[in-house]
Amino acid sequence: MMVHDSAAAPSQSGSGLLYIGGITPFSTVDWPGKLACVAFLAGCPWRCPYCQNHILQSRDAATLGAENLFSFLETRRRLLDGVVFSGGEPLAQPGVIGAAQRARELGFAVGLHTCGAFPERLREILPFIDWVGLDVKAPWDAYDRVTLVPGAGPLARESLSILLEAGVDMEARTTWHPDLLSQEDIASIGRDLAARGVKTWAVQAYRHTGTDGSLPNETVYPSDMPAGVADLFDRFEFRRA
Ligand code: SF4
Repeated sequence: MMVHDSAAAPSQSGSGLLYIGGITPFSTVDWPGKLACVAFLAGCPWRCPYCQNHILQSRDAATLGAENLFSFLETRRRLLDGVVFSGGEPLAQPGVIGAAQRARELGFAVGLHTCGAFPERLREILPFIDWVGLDVKAPWDAYDRVTLVPGAGPLARESLSILLEAGVDMEARTTWHPDLLSQEDIASIGRDLAARGVKTWAVQAYRHTGTDGSLPNETVYPSDMPAGVADLFDRFEFRRA
């Protein structure tokens, strides 16, 4: 369930404004193994055609501010394990750093979903983060094919390096539409991640529902996975809606 309040204005999180498109009060899937609420922050610099929250690509989609989130969190202390900042791209907003710190001070573990477009801000938020789900969208030199924005690959690769260097608990996740990634692309991504030291990888089959409809409604199946790649990881999951 999404909580919306169209009358609310973005408000201070502790270090800046927060623009929130909606809050899911209760989720068991957005942070594997945790019971968490999810704050969907509005605004993203990339334009992946499979985006499930394409409405949130614009910051104008914000209907809630920081105080909406924190008054909700006050009512959920000791009832939830944590809060996940998702989006959109949460690190597009400087205020998410103060928000993560404030959530920690309230006693919540803090998770982050990110595409890796803001490596320096990722470095800044790490002291207040317990887990990260990082999108790895394509082989690094083919990133622009998925994000539709030039120069995306090096930013995402740097974000991954920052996470691995910090040793933060993380999951790499790759959304697979057959028009955007071939089986060889998937094999290449998997081999590269494993070589870098990623332990947890999830491949997520494309879901048409919720997208802008620009891709054909085609998907992939576990049997499409290239042989042997999943075995390179301590934990691998093929996700279908
Ligand atoms: S990076 Fe994420 S939020 Fe941004 S357009 Fe791509 S899928 Fe959507």
